[in-house]
Amino acid sequence: MTATHSDSEAHETALGVPPPGIAVEDQAIGEAARAQLFDMYWSDRDVLPGKTSAQRRAILEHTSYRDFLKRYWNADEDVLKFLQTRTHDLWAVGIDAVPASETMNLPGLKAQRAALKDDEEDEPYIYHFPDGNASIARMLVRRLIPGIAPGDSMEDIVLARFDYGQLDLADRPVRIRLSATAVDVRNVGDGVEVAYVKGGKVRRVAGSDCVLACYHAMIPYIAPETSAEQRAALHDSVRAPLVYVNVAVRNWHPWHRLGVAYIDNPGGTYAAHLDFPVSLDGYRFSADPSQPICIHLLHTPTAPNQGLNMRQQYRAGRASLYTMSFGDFESEVRDELARMLGVAGFDFDRDAAAITVNRWPHGYAYSPTPLFDDPVQQALIETRARRRLGRIAIANSDSGWNAFTNVAIDQAHRAVAELTG
Ligand SMILES: Cc1cc2nc3c(=O)[nH]c(=O)nc-3n(C[C@H](O)[C@H](O)[C@H](O)COP(=O)(O)OP(=O)(O)OC[C@H]3O[C@@H](n4cnc5c(N)ncnc54)[C@H](O)[C@@H]3O)c2cc1C
Repeated sequence: MTATHSDSEAHETALGVPPPGIAVEDQAIGEAARAQLFDMYWSDRDVLPGKTSAQRRAILEHTSYRDFLKRYWNADEDVLKFLQTRTHDLWAVGIDAVPASETMNLPGLKAQRAALKDDEEDEPYIYHFPDGNASIARMLVRRLIPGIAPGDSMEDIVLARFDYGQLDLADRPVRIRLSATAVDVRNVGDGVEVAYVKGGKVRRVAGSDCVLACYHAMIPYIAPETSAEQRAALHDSVRAPLVYVNVAVRNWHPWHRLGVAYIDNPGGTYAAHLDFPVSLDGYRFSADPSQPICIHLLHTPTAPNQGLNMRQQYRAGRASLYTMSFGDFESEVRDELARMLGVAGFDFDRDAAAITVNRWPHGYAYSPTPLFDDPVQQALIETRARRRLGRIAIANSDSGWNAFTNVAIDQAHRAVAELTG
């Protein structure tokens, strides 16, 4: 396992920036691998001498990071194992399925960064609401249904209490119906009819327009007007599975004692970290080690180093996720937290108060890369997949082929513009 000494380093490490707090010589890998890793982190050695920028880019885009290290650095097996999971956080697959062009901050690419003038510092990956993107959804709802929650700022959203009774009132222009699953969406006359299931009953609503902002791969099953060509394009979007486990603990003394905030675990199930501290308005982060905190654990089910591409690994990972019971997740959590923190006094039964397992079989939207997707073909697929069906437009982060929320917002804007002209 690998530990880093501050949470900003933790996030940078997850992103791939060389972790200055880590002493390479402390890692549990062979002597030769340590020396090689040190070289990869810090030396200016150019393993692509004499190549033009275009040639370098082409190599990096069409070579997985793992193959790059093997081919151009003759990387030791221990080095590859050590780095295997560094891309899990952002890509939900290991370094065997991510092109080197997307791992420019990882070891072995220093000279390529310099040659391609790709040396801009990435913003640290720390800006977030304490409850994640939920705050964004909550702010949207508060704006759409005035009076449903107090406040009007980014700061006051975190603790704002919502009156769920106002979500679906007949006299409001905006009505939000929870636990209502659309099962049939089609153009009827000049408008759209939607059948949905709520409480075990099928109901219908009609409207002038509809935006389908759900997963691409599901659209063919609920929108019968999609053509065979569009169905194929929609099915090309294969979401990444991933799991977040949160363990509420009564204190974080063990982390404090170890002086770490992030523990990588390349050979195990979970990477563990304490969240980057954020206080907003009345919400205060846990500033004292004797206060409770949530430990975040990330599990990314992958099928690495078997020659599978990203889509195939996502499907295989999803299948393995479906076989895991809550008990499986819990026993792994107990075992791995004991091994990570036991030495610093952590006792699961005494210190843990609760566990939540958030399992996303369909997590991140698929992001194409030149490693597996031909850019010209991909552009065609993307346009086909989000093609409007009469008065039904298609949004969701899937239609931007990128998991980030800003992309989902851009796609929503585009879909509404398609309908309103
Ligand atoms: C674990 C995880 C971590 C992430 N972290 C980040 C991050 O740090 N930064 C970032 O920018 N992005 C992050 N993302 C991505 C971000 O959450 C998405 O980009 C964003 O939520 C996409 O918004 P959306 O509206 O397109 O889709 P979604 O948020 O997926 O919303 C789609 C909604 O449609 C509903 N739905 C689906 N089918 C039906 C149906 N038939 N009938 C009715 N309702 C239906 C779903 O239940 C869901 O509520 C993360 C995603 C995951 C899974």
